[in-house]
Amino acid sequence: MNTPLALTPWPMRVQAGDGQFVFTPTTCLVADAAAAPTAETLAAQLRLRTGMPLPRPDQRPASGAVVLALNPQLAHLGAEGYRLVVTATAVDLQAPTAAGLFWATQTLYQLLPAAAGAAGAGVAIPAVIIEDQPRFGWRGLMLDTGHDYQHLSFIYRFIDLMVLHKFNRLHWHITDLGTWPLEIDGYPRLQDPCTLGTRRRGTPPRGVKPGRYTHAQVREVVAYAAARHVTVVPEIDMPGHSAPALMAYPEFDCPVPHRTWEWERWEYCVGQERTYDFLHAVLSQVMALFPSPYIHIGGDECPKDHWRLCPVCQARRQAEGLADEDELQSWFVRRIERFLNAHGRRLIGWDEILEGGLAPDATVMSWRGVGGGIAAAQAGHDVVMAPTSHTYFDYPETTTSVAKVYQFEPVPAELSAAQARHILGAQAQMWTDNHPTEAEIERLVYPRACALAEVVWSPAAARDADRFAACLAAHAQRLAALGLDITGA
Ligand SMILES: [Zn+2]
Repeated sequence: MNTPLALTPWPMRVQAGDGQFVFTPTTCLVADAAAAPTAETLAAQLRLRTGMPLPRPDQRPASGAVVLALNPQLAHLGAEGYRLVVTATAVDLQAPTAAGLFWATQTLYQLLPAAAGAAGAGVAIPAVIIEDQPRFGWRGLMLDTGHDYQHLSFIYRFIDLMVLHKFNRLHWHITDLGTWPLEIDGYPRLQDPCTLGTRRRGTPPRGVKPGRYTHAQVREVVAYAAARHVTVVPEIDMPGHSAPALMAYPEFDCPVPHRTWEWERWEYCVGQERTYDFLHAVLSQVMALFPSPYIHIGGDECPKDHWRLCPVCQARRQAEGLADEDELQSWFVRRIERFLNAHGRRLIGWDEILEGGLAPDATVMSWRGVGGGIAAAQAGHDVVMAPTSHTYFDYPETTTSVAKVYQFEPVPAELSAAQARHILGAQAQMWTDNHPTEAEIERLVYPRACALAEVVWSPAAARDADRFAACLAAHAQRLAALGLDITGA
């Protein structure tokens, strides 16, 4: 190849061909019925970038067509793999699944000239044969709306940028210390700004932007993501990181004086039954909104201070024969897991859920390094790697550079081949404790997410920092055309 293709993440196999395919006014787009939704999305993208009308005939013409087709004979490429063949006369996208076909369209989009302004001038893409499939099934970005609300328009754009890089899990960290924007029927005070502003106890963290997502709005986000083969994994943080709910509904708090009003040091009273009535109501509504097989329950950084003082929590601990408050949290997580399992869902939580014993079917998100992930995988549990060392994108570039993210290896050498199969993948975290603007969030996530996309999609052996740097330089023009400036990092 004379000019390296500006593809990121880099595909599994790339073989350059001769010549190029030129988009003209007669170039058409053909798709079988099963590929129709993906074809519509692609047609819109191609019309915008090429300026061509892209008619949709029923039959494939002799030449000049972009053709999308499901092909069961490509099953060896897995649930998300595809084949993309560009010649001078046609562009063929084939995959065994609709998801694979969708990722093929994102690669095709990246074959278009990276610079903006080329539309209408006989836009061409180089002849090439690409066979591709992801290294990991869980390729995630976490967005935190629990410290700060983000507008729906921003979340849609966040998804658009994700799929351009073939991420397929939006971990939506909905609730946290700052705000609870998800509407929950029966509990209207969760989003009541008056509740936030006039609380008698404690002072809300400064700078929080509160807001509300209605059920209808959430359903639309989930559907939009699903049409792009992104699963939205909701997180309702418990038993800690729950100050907004406890401010609004003090009856779910331990009936003891607070030793401190710091928002980090609040947790649900896990001794009393009415706490479970609330959490079950919340989780039932969450499961109705989010079809994700996984429901994230947080589990991180629970101080357990009030449990030690609370007669109800202590009575529960003794009745259940639990040695300490770590075991009490473990008991709580198991109880929540049984509820989720009974509704056909699986529990995922941060690595603190290992403390006091892991729930039987739980999946661990390893954030305090990879040690929690190693322990969980060795115990036969599934793991998503999300360590602060490489994947916390709220950290500054000086701490976590693009180059460092690019070097991240999600499968620790300590694991056997069998244990390594429990590593589902990895994801980046975009926390909003520091109240970045929406533009600042994008600028923190990119270009580091481009590097992580290669980590979780491309074969480990394909990692090539020089090639990636060259791709990123061209890719920057593509992102600039979408209004995201990643230069000057
Ligand atoms: Zn209690």
